[in-house]
Amino acid sequence: MIEMQHIEKYYGAFHALKNINLTVAKGEKIVLCGPSGSGKSTLIRCINHLETIKSGEIVVAGHRLNDSQKAVDAVRREVGMVFQQFNLFPHKTVLENCILAPMRVRKLSRSEAEATARKYLERVRIGDQAEKYPAQLSGGQQQRVAIARALCMEPKAMLFDEPTSALDPEMVKEVLDTMVSLARDGMTMICVTHEMGFARQVADRVIFMADGQIVEENDPESFFSAPKHERTRAFLGEIL
Ligand code: ATP
Ligand code: MG
Repeated sequence: MIEMQHIEKYYGAFHALKNINLTVAKGEKIVLCGPSGSGKSTLIRCINHLETIKSGEIVVAGHRLNDSQKAVDAVRREVGMVFQQFNLFPHKTVLENCILAPMRVRKLSRSEAEATARKYLERVRIGDQAEKYPAQLSGGQQQRVAIARALCMEPKAMLFDEPTSALDPEMVKEVLDTMVSLARDGMTMICVTHEMGFARQVADRVIFMADGQIVEENDPESFFSAPKHERTRAFLGEIL
């Protein structure tokens, strides 16, 4: 579903990703963790071409990313992304936030887009908030709207970049529960998160990055009980 081969990424002279190789199968759930600045956001942003790479190859759902806008558009249609900051349009209602891209990009009619939006707002258990504006919702509710909005594009994979780290503690669970339920439904997911309970619950693989490299990866059980590298042990020591 997602294939990254020999990815090298620079910001100016700074070498942000070093020979990243990552293959994610359909339905697989990956948790990506690592210290601040290790390149986690950069890695997942490369997948939908929010960042350009210096070399290497990225293929998403059969579309090879090159600089053609057509390939970029095709990939962005297939891959939903949810950020730490919810990035909802503040002057649009929840429902309007959810119908914009499906109408513009998937060419749905307004009524089709609204039906889809209501379905996914129900799915994230927020169907009763459709007419509100983002500022009238809690952080956890806003993040669930952001998830619903991504789902309205009927993506083949979802990328999450620390979706719970801007939330008040009491709202973390409702967002994680939504992600767990999505995982159970078979969604292909890459999640940057330090929520290790979530990783244990749903991840097929946990990947640890440091200094722009994948240092180690393993199934959650082995990853947590027997980390192989000193850097992974140090990291787990800090967050667990
Ligand atoms: P965090 O846990 O803090 O979110 P991260 O693992 O997501 O960190 P990235 O945001 O991918 O890390 O950043 C990796 C490195 O690249 C960092 O050293 C960062 O300073 C640098 N970097 C990221 N974005 C840019 C940019 N637009 N221009 C220059 N350097 C950047
Ligand atoms: Mg980041």
